[in-house]
Amino acid sequence: MDDLQTWKARRRAVILAHNYQPPEIQDLADHQGDSLDLSLLAARTDAPVIVFCGVHFMAETAALLAPGRAVLLPDLRAGCSLADTVTAADVRSLRAMHPRAAVVAYINTSAAVKAESDVCVTSANALRVVSSLPEEEIIFIPDRNLGQYLAGGTAKQVITWDGNCRAHNEVRVDEVRTARREHPGAFIMVHPEVSPEVAAQADLVTGTGGMVRQARQRPECEFVVGTEAGLVYRLRKENPDKRFHLLSPSLWCPTMKYTTPSGIVSALRDLAPRVEVPPEVAGRARQALDRMLELTEG
Ligand code: SF4
Repeated sequence: MDDLQTWKARRRAVILAHNYQPPEIQDLADHQGDSLDLSLLAARTDAPVIVFCGVHFMAETAALLAPGRAVLLPDLRAGCSLADTVTAADVRSLRAMHPRAAVVAYINTSAAVKAESDVCVTSANALRVVSSLPEEEIIFIPDRNLGQYLAGGTAKQVITWDGNCRAHNEVRVDEVRTARREHPGAFIMVHPEVSPEVAAQADLVTGTGGMVRQARQRPECEFVVGTEAGLVYRLRKENPDKRFHLLSPSLWCPTMKYTTPSGIVSALRDLAPRVEVPPEVAGRARQALDRMLELTEG
């Protein structure tokens, strides 16, 4: 009875997996995507149970966008070191220091931080959302590298926070140079969470959804991928006639790898661990997410 498909059918569950999940989880998921894709799927699904294969802030986001449904995170240890760098109190202090600024929260934040923010963004829509805001001054939390990337792409004044993703921030410029030498002709694409110095050496800076599209559409047969290793599995699977190389061994997120098939079975069987957001936080956090979806879809 501990069969995943049996429990999934019994619970009428949908399984969502982030692009950074281990291969065996990507293979069993109903849907796979970046934070924006999965947020939209969570908002639209009518499944009563959502198993979120990713990290905690993503399951919280699904819980915010799919009220009334049970959102399960198979392993509660799956956190995000970037999201952990900023708290709701930090956001209140920033607002007091910059009262005319809009607070833009990367989706990699807790629900409590989202509740203190004006709008959320993902790496896929950040430039579009920030450009459409009426405020000229933007507080961007928590990823400093993505904030600097935004500052370069808009005329706005962007105040950044000193957070970063350990996996992306550790990629070095010399690794890009080595990749170019070892794979001449390959198209090098990197995530905006890498340092500005690394981003400047790449052919394109884009989120994981953008990388999936580039790999499908571009004429090159070889790509160097500057984001977490899990995406390389998806790219190879979807483009068997093309070659993909991971830019750096540092592009490995340990907490993304906590999900296991047996953990999913247990979660479905026990309907736990369930991720819920307290009502006093949920309403305000959902407003910041809804505003993002309006600006992205509109
Ligand atoms: S890859 Fe980085 S930003 Fe993404 S979940 Fe892991 S620690 Fe957080």
